[in-house]
Amino acid sequence: MPKQRLLRTEPETPPPRPVLAEDPPRFLLLEREVEIEYRPPMLAALQSKVDAVADAARNTAPGCPHCGQPMRHQDTRPVSWLARFGRLHALVSRYRCRPCRYECRPLLDLLGVEPGRISGALARLLALLATVAPYPLAARLAWLLLGVTISPMGIWRVAQRLGEAATHYTDALSRYHADSRSTGAPTEGAPAAVVLGVDGCNLGMQVRSKRRHRKQGETLPPLPPIEEGRFREVKTGVLLLPSERVEPSPGRRSLVRRFLVTCLGDADAIFARLYAQLRELGWVGTHTVVVIVGDGAEWIWNRATMFARRCEILDFWHALEHAWGFAQLRYGEGSAQADRWVHEIAEDLRAGKVPEVITRLERLRPKTAELRESLQALIGYYRENAGRMRYDEYLRLGYGIGSGAVESAHKQVVHARFRQAGMRWSEAGARRLLALRLLLLNDNWALLDRLRMVSLAG
Ligand SMILES: [Zn+2]
Repeated sequence: MPKQRLLRTEPETPPPRPVLAEDPPRFLLLEREVEIEYRPPMLAALQSKVDAVADAARNTAPGCPHCGQPMRHQDTRPVSWLARFGRLHALVSRYRCRPCRYECRPLLDLLGVEPGRISGALARLLALLATVAPYPLAARLAWLLLGVTISPMGIWRVAQRLGEAATHYTDALSRYHADSRSTGAPTEGAPAAVVLGVDGCNLGMQVRSKRRHRKQGETLPPLPPIEEGRFREVKTGVLLLPSERVEPSPGRRSLVRRFLVTCLGDADAIFARLYAQLRELGWVGTHTVVVIVGDGAEWIWNRATMFARRCEILDFWHALEHAWGFAQLRYGEGSAQADRWVHEIAEDLRAGKVPEVITRLERLRPKTAELRESLQALIGYYRENAGRMRYDEYLRLGYGIGSGAVESAHKQVVHARFRQAGMRWSEAGARRLLALRLLLLNDNWALLDRLRMVSLAG
């Protein structure tokens, strides 16, 4: 009887409750003191630098960007914004060009801050937290790491603004490279081969497509139940060089670097992004073979044709999965015989013996209609993809035979942040956060410092 045995091993008296120290360690208190004391002079120092910039910019009326005429001074108002060390203030002049109906506040543009908003380093740090953790958790981390009190909604707002800037940039870059007149990075150093993979999954979307505005007295219809929620496919593409695959210890493969792209929905869009990234890197020269690893999804092969010099590879594990389906039907699920049979197929496929495998399959005489159908499907699949199953050659060339790299990349980009329990996304919200997450995972977070912020309505 397990319970009695458990009782026997328990001590006669229950273990005491662990004791908490009366106070935190003295040194920790000193550190915290200094942190708090430090802020006011830092804030004051930053404020005086801002004042200096404001003074220098004062009394210089800007020219209208539309007509070139000097603009008229409209008014000057105090403006404040929140930064890493506290709230900053400035007197900001507004200028106007009446004929063009154009207004601007040059000092705010110069500083790159928005009135009443969180700006600068603090905004970037908060967005970084939102990129790795759900908004409520990010808000808690903001307090623990930065000593900043902010609501999950506040974190969300910052992430939207910075994410929009990142999205704008990526979209513009894709459009730029999609134009035949654009120039990419020099391709003299282009690699002999570059591996490209794509993976996708569904993202739970919010049902509302538009924000609901209530007019006076109007009652809104009830929201549709969550079951009716739509799903959108989010796709991740990965680019890597076969020469940069390393094996730090036997069986443990890793990559020196890889470049990720992502988008919501459209198959053409993900390939436009992959293409733009390839051009940015200068990775496709006249002799470069673009190796495309796919899971058999037709949309990948259809778009692969945009690369003249290419090598299409059917992911090895997907090829085997089909054999498994038949083997389990024929020999029984989990049987040793099924195991052996698939193992043999795997070895032959790896050795590049696709025609032999097909011939062997054709010689089988299954007894039931279900088995015959399953076998025919398997043979058809191998015949159709035979040209993408020269695994011996791919291994010899160092291209690899699996889509593991893209699958793990996709999980890192999407699953780890976007597919947690109960998460529902708005189209814009998902796009913006995906763009930020990509900057982080591509080790390109610093790009955010050089992006033009876009003002969002609301
Ligand atoms: Zn004007």
